[in-house]
Amino acid sequence: MPVGRFAPSPTGRLHVGNLRTALVAWLAARADDSRFLLRFEDLDAAAVLAEHYRSQADDLAAIGIDWDEPVLHQSERLELYRHAIDRLVEADLVYPCFCSRREIREAARAPNRAHAGHRYPGTCRDLSTAQRAERSATRDPALRVRTGGAVRGFEDLVAGPMAFEVDDFVVRRNDGTPAYHLVVVVDDAAQGIELVVRADDLLESTSRHLLLYELLELTAPAHAHVPLVLAPDGDRLAKRHGAVTLADRVAAGESPGEVVAFLAASLGLVDIEPSAAGRVVPVVDLAALVSALDLGALPREPLILPAHYLAGQRTNSDSE
Ligand code: GLU
Repeated sequence: MPVGRFAPSPTGRLHVGNLRTALVAWLAARADDSRFLLRFEDLDAAAVLAEHYRSQADDLAAIGIDWDEPVLHQSERLELYRHAIDRLVEADLVYPCFCSRREIREAARAPNRAHAGHRYPGTCRDLSTAQRAERSATRDPALRVRTGGAVRGFEDLVAGPMAFEVDDFVVRRNDGTPAYHLVVVVDDAAQGIELVVRADDLLESTSRHLLLYELLELTAPAHAHVPLVLAPDGDRLAKRHGAVTLADRVAAGESPGEVVAFLAASLGLVDIEPSAAGRVVPVVDLAALVSALDLGALPREPLILPAHYLAGQRTNSDSE
């Protein structure tokens, strides 16, 4: 009975990639007649756009996804996150980090760190008390978990066996906001989530989350990471690529059911060539999809949308 969830950030309309992930998350939960929860990840106040709580909920409902109440808003749960951060502080598992993003980027680019990539180079890990006091005078620190290069492996239900080394990641930003990695763990545990389905750009982050579940003595869920949907140019989907949202697809003449048919075909759940999907595709019964879902058989490669699929939106008002 894997209790499932979808956890979008209400920063814009959902695009077809988001809808595809939501569909898998919903099907996986409903396959076992299980609870499915909607959670808005809305802690980034500067990025949240109030109208998109509704637009996202409406678009999910329009393609047949329902959820069990109550809908959770992270912005209303700051006390819970503060409590978890306090526990990490009290157990001496975190340290203050005064680095700016730019400093981290530059440290990672230094010649002796040619392979460090985006990982935190450890600049503030071993500052003395005096150094911390001195830096505190001019900057508010973020809090990072001292991971000691721990590796955490897991069996992803879509991607297979995975293991990543966990760098010292942020659990509280320097403006005091709890960071994604902390809140996702706290909320998934608090909501009793048993299966996390999300896009596979978060695959590597899962090792961070598994470490946090341990440090906070919480039970970790299972994970299933769905490959991204990309634009024809290989980039992440964005408005500039054309008809990427449900509203765009509808404006281009498709019904929400046809969008579901396209998404289901792209996941191999119905036997239609994705590239041929679109207006001529029969509407798919969601209940039938529930029994068709096999997470282990989902495609492991990103879905690159064909240019003609996104071209539909070019109406008069959009043309340049
Ligand atoms: N809010 C994240 C996103 O929209 C999803 C995080 C998660 O599912 O854990 O990409």
